[in-house]
Amino acid sequence: MHRLFARQREKATKPNGVVDLDVLGELVATAYEQAERDRVRTERSINLMVDELDTLNRTLEVQVAERTVALGNREKELSAQNLRFDAALNNMSQALLMFDGNSRLVIHNKRYCEMYWLAPDDIKPGMVLPDLLRLRRACGTFSGDPEAYTASLKAMIARGESFHSSIELPNGRTIDVWNSPMPDGGWVATHEDITDRRRAEKIIAHMAHHDSLTDLPNRVLFQERLADMLRETRDGKRVAVFYLDLDNFKAVNDTLGHQYGDELLKRVAQRLRACVHENITVARVGGDEFAVILPDIVTHDDAALLARDICQAIRDPYDLFSHVVVTDTSIGIAIAPDNGSQPDELLKNADMALYRAKADGRGTFRFFEAEMDATVKARRALENSLREALMEGQFTLHYQPILNLDENRIPCCEALIRWNHPERGMVPPGEFIPVAEEMGLIVAIGEWVLRQACNDAATWPNNTKVAVNLSPIQMLSPNLVPMVIGALAAAGLPASRLELEITESVLMQNTEATVAALHQLRSLGVKISMDDFGTGFSSLSYLRRFPFDKLKIDRCFISDLSKHDQSGLAIVRSVAALAKNLGMITTAEGVETAEQVELVRMIGCTEVQGFYFGRPQPLKDIVRTLNQYLPKQAKSA
Ligand code: C2E
Ligand code: MG
Ligand code: MG
Repeated sequence: MHRLFARQREKATKPNGVVDLDVLGELVATAYEQAERDRVRTERSINLMVDELDTLNRTLEVQVAERTVALGNREKELSAQNLRFDAALNNMSQALLMFDGNSRLVIHNKRYCEMYWLAPDDIKPGMVLPDLLRLRRACGTFSGDPEAYTASLKAMIARGESFHSSIELPNGRTIDVWNSPMPDGGWVATHEDITDRRRAEKIIAHMAHHDSLTDLPNRVLFQERLADMLRETRDGKRVAVFYLDLDNFKAVNDTLGHQYGDELLKRVAQRLRACVHENITVARVGGDEFAVILPDIVTHDDAALLARDICQAIRDPYDLFSHVVVTDTSIGIAIAPDNGSQPDELLKNADMALYRAKADGRGTFRFFEAEMDATVKARRALENSLREALMEGQFTLHYQPILNLDENRIPCCEALIRWNHPERGMVPPGEFIPVAEEMGLIVAIGEWVLRQACNDAATWPNNTKVAVNLSPIQMLSPNLVPMVIGALAAAGLPASRLELEITESVLMQNTEATVAALHQLRSLGVKISMDDFGTGFSSLSYLRRFPFDKLKIDRCFISDLSKHDQSGLAIVRSVAALAKNLGMITTAEGVETAEQVELVRMIGCTEVQGFYFGRPQPLKDIVRTLNQYLPKQAKSA
């Protein structure tokens, strides 16, 4: 019997042992009701729990779904990262290997196989280094002992140090290898092909020490080598330093152009190299300046011998793009230890000797001598004061009248520059014009002369012309024609009243550019005279190159002229006749005596210029002279 029912029957049993059925029925009903209430409560609890579980489930589902998406994304990210890593690994210019703590290969890239000529399938993760090196040895890209190499590498890695080596491959390429330790006891190796970098570094180093045009050592390398040589030279041995400079290089450069100038420099460099033994340093130390170190000489003659050879070699004509060009070289030589023991000192002294070689006529060589120092200093002082002279207005012009013999009038006066030096007094042009030419200052001086002469002539009576001397250097200036036009315009002088005097050397040094400039000037109405005729070489050929208006026969033909000098007379006579036939006026220069006047008149010269008739004189005097001639000119006109 159910315990609950037993207890209810007990409760409903009366003391007399009779069961009160009503009470029992009530008790049972109450128990059923209670049970029903419990069941309903329980059901409600269960429902609540089910609901809660349901909510929880849904939350979990959402969370799982979210996690799944996140994981998916992460996976995608990881695979993208893997792809990127793979791309990076296989596209890097360096080869890469990674070994784990057990010295087994974990990662490698394609570049490694390419670099060492291995088949991609040869290499597999898990391999050990000696196996890999053996594969390389079979391909010829490893030449050492795989075990020994691995042992020394591992020893370094174990100490936490990087292991570096360089490998030369049979194809000439150089590989730089770095093995760096990793925290797990493994290491990562990078292999870089540094061949191109090395080559570039070599080229840069070469460029820093060589001249790009001629590929000769430059001044820096020259000085280094000279310093080395001087340190090594002991025991009575001597070293000669040559300083060379091309004569007339500027003319080639200016007239034919830089392309020709450059080509000439290259050819000169080749010839210089050919003159000396391979281990002798020949350098280009400036524009057209070269230097040579001649070691181990015993006497000056050893150096002189080479200097002569060099002069000879440079002198041979050059065929530059079908143009024949001739140049010469001047050489200054200083000898160590006699003339100095330091590179700078030797170069300076060789330069001084070069100065002398040039002054002595070029195309030659000179050894340094102590007194040159003083000469060069004096020359430098002259150069400085010449520069000052121009700025401080120390130049002045004198004018020398030129007489027309037939008409007995002064058609023209020649402008002759004078330097009124504050201490030295009047310096004649012969002393400073050559210096100004070498300095290039003549261009500025020449412009001053031209402007001044045009201004002065504009004040002269009777349309008297002015003759102005042009230096060969001025003729090279591309600015010459505009400069002449400017000077005429500024003075208001008609071009027909200007004569420009050039010497044969102008046509010697130059070709088309000069002739073209002369034609341009002539087309303006300017007259062109050939000055100092007879002092150059092949005079007649120059007369054919340009139709000069006037030929000035040099003083040297006139000064000795006398009735008894038949050959002198014959020369001047034929020159005068030649000029006449070519339609040129002839001026006899340097006429000093009445006899000479008569002789040149008889011979057929048109004009005379000389002390007999009038010295070069300041502006105010020449104006007076011209005014004195006015009546006569009026008469003869
Ligand atoms: P040049 O052009 O032949 O000038 C004539 C020179 O002969 C002048 O010398 C003149 O004084 C000199 N002379 C004239 N008649 C006689 C004479 O009867 N006897 C002697 N013994 N000499 C006479 P200067 O003035 O000393 O000039 C010398 C040279 O300097 C000139 O020769 C010319 O080549 C150059 N020169 C003068 N002025 C200039 C200038 O402004 N520019 C340039 N580039 N050169 C100039
Ligand atoms: Mg002259
Ligand atoms: Mg002259």
